Amino acid sequence: MAGKSLLLGVDLGGTKVEAALLDQKGRVIERKRTATPIDDYPGLLTQVCNLCTDLENSAGLTTALALGICTPGSPSPVTGLMRNCNSTALNGQSLREDLEKHSRRPVRIANDADCLVLSEATDGAARSARSVFGVILGTGVGGGFFINGSLLQGPNAVSGEWGHNRMPLERVQALPDQLAYPRPCYCGRQDCVETWLSGPGLALTHQQLHGTCIDMQQIRSQQLDVKHQKTLSIYQSMLAAALAGIINIVDPEIIVLGGGLSNIDLIYSSMPKLLQRQIFSDTCRTQIRAAQHGDSSGVRGAAWLWQRG
Ligand SMILES: [Zn+2]
Repeated sequence: MAGKSLLLGVDLGGTKVEAALLDQKGRVIERKRTATPIDDYPGLLTQVCNLCTDLENSAGLTTALALGICTPGSPSPVTGLMRNCNSTALNGQSLREDLEKHSRRPVRIANDADCLVLSEATDGAARSARSVFGVILGTGVGGGFFINGSLLQGPNAVSGEWGHNRMPLERVQALPDQLAYPRPCYCGRQDCVETWLSGPGLALTHQQLHGTCIDMQQIRSQQLDVKHQKTLSIYQSMLAAALAGIINIVDPEIIVLGGGLSNIDLIYSSMPKLLQRQIFSDTCRTQIRAAQHGDSSGVRGAAWLWQRG
């Protein structure tokens, strides 16, 4: 096996660690998953190193490949220490340095939204687009930009973090009376986009509107009763309001949606019309697409971090 042409990625999730070897065409050569060690940072380092060597051995490689890592958080540009990780054992750690030391290979790290957009722009739903905003709508809300062939990275390492922008005030004030606001966010701010558009945010909206638990099966099946129709209508209008702010600033060709809530098909039919009303233009040509690689975007994006060496 020609080792130099292969790419190695690891997705450090809160519940699973997944490693994959890709070839230059994005085909998965080897893949392996294990459970994430809980509150055990040294154990996690060992597990990642073992996964990498296991895959390399399975593929018949004799030299260590460079490693791309996908995490929910990111290294601070000031200290280099990890922050905002839901695998809390990672927070405050020098993950990149520690992995390089343990695995004796170069390591690059990107957060899950950056890996999603890199994966989808490379060989997924946004391939060949020059400007892409990748969105994660899941337990949390994140985002990342892929512009002119590379991830957009700035001095604060927060580009695309729209989940902690405030939801536009006029949209919040137009909500039905049952919906209490402002919603507190774990980041210390209020009415962050994440508090309304994440899975828990959607469930809270339904609970406050109707006094019952949301039925995600019903939402995905599109066989909606009146209560779920109302909840989803509010969710879609808030999603459009939040995305309109992104379009007015960056004007991406494609917005790719990933994460559990990206499986709601209604979003894709309703969003063009809703966005057209909210952006500063007489038309909205930005395309809204579902991520093609689903749960694999993290590990694929991590591997693509080394595509250009
Ligand atoms: Zn927040």
